[in-house]
Amino acid sequence: MSFLAARLDLIQPSPSISAMNRAKALAAAGEDICNMAAGEPDFPTPPHIIEAAAQAMRDGATRYTAVDGTLPLKQAIAAKFARENQIEVATGNVSVATGAKQIIYNAFTCTVDAGDEVIVPAPYWVSYPDIVKLNGGVPVFIAAPAEQRFKITPQQLADAITPRTKWLVLNSPNNPSGAIYSEGELRAFGHVLSDHPHVHVMTDDIYEHLIYDGLSHTTFAKVNPELADRTLTINGVSKTYAMTGFRIGYAAGPLELIKAMEKLQSQSTSNPSAVSQAAALAALEGPLSFFAEWRAEYRRRRDRLVARLHGKAGLECPTPDGAFYVYVSCGAHIGKTTPSGKRINNDSDFVMYLLNDHKVATVQGAAYGISPAFRISFATSMEVIEKACDRIVQACESLS
Ligand code: PMP
Ligand code: GLU
Repeated sequence: MSFLAARLDLIQPSPSISAMNRAKALAAAGEDICNMAAGEPDFPTPPHIIEAAAQAMRDGATRYTAVDGTLPLKQAIAAKFARENQIEVATGNVSVATGAKQIIYNAFTCTVDAGDEVIVPAPYWVSYPDIVKLNGGVPVFIAAPAEQRFKITPQQLADAITPRTKWLVLNSPNNPSGAIYSEGELRAFGHVLSDHPHVHVMTDDIYEHLIYDGLSHTTFAKVNPELADRTLTINGVSKTYAMTGFRIGYAAGPLELIKAMEKLQSQSTSNPSAVSQAAALAALEGPLSFFAEWRAEYRRRRDRLVARLHGKAGLECPTPDGAFYVYVSCGAHIGKTTPSGKRINNDSDFVMYLLNDHKVATVQGAAYGISPAFRISFATSMEVIEKACDRIVQACESLS
């Protein structure tokens, strides 16, 4: 009999975390690595948020809190949803957890039974399918390749729905492609779902402020208010406020689900960190004016990456509308051989070649469900971006 539970075999370690760790380990061993794997802002957390966390500790925020978030934080979240997303939610419909990842984990664990299906458009963020599988569910992928601008169509959605469908996952702006669904597109999905009352929508808006070229973000529940009672709107402070280490994510959704998630969380983490909740409160109640500068810097980096890689050395690098990744097609290099004689059979081989032979850390498209491609994060300095592009182009040109 195996000591470890069989369900662990259903999942893999998060590929993006693994790639980040590989890069960090090589850097710690003295290698000159360009780390383009990390999906976290490289800006420091704004000082007023740090100060609020320190003050909260001095004021005694060092104890357990309510299981799914303090009332002041839930009030600030409800106000944020009204202000930034034009959706009205009561504090009782809000849940706070240890990162958006735990919100997703809680939501799937509370709803997915063996054999239940969850529709996941690909490319997708790595954790959705694995959390579904851990719960015995079946991720049902809809391919949204570059030719579709990484977006699914209403017809594809309609075709994917079965009597076993529990959820549709929407992530806009998308990790890894940056694709953003317009109001019209979200309305069309809502129209499809109105015929299928058993399907819920999980919308992950964590990159909502990371949008370029004057585009705007709209959330599903705003466009489809009649479906709000089957929508879980997920967000968090990790990306907007550069607070990945604080681990605070939150959601608004139907009361039955929010209560179930509270029950589950009472038997896992008890509550998100009290100090981090105080910091998140300061973030959501504080100014967002600092973000314009960050956005401008991300945009400069995006434009530079696309200018240096698109159509160069056999790569296709479409311009992302949002988030801080480019999703680069490397199809021209599959089947080629490296100078040391290794054959590149797939995008995982390509990414390992970039890392081992050219010291650039990225993440393989296989992790995101659309291949052959790789993800480059531009949450890193322009200097590193320039160096990484030199190396990537050289790596591609060295293949034969
Ligand atoms: N959703 C997406 C699309 C992400 O990229 C991330 C970042 N890993 C998360 C959710 C989770 O973020 P966190 O747990 O830090 O709130
Ligand atoms: N969202 C980040 C990424 O995609 C963090 C890593 C993770 O949680 O998988 O790289």
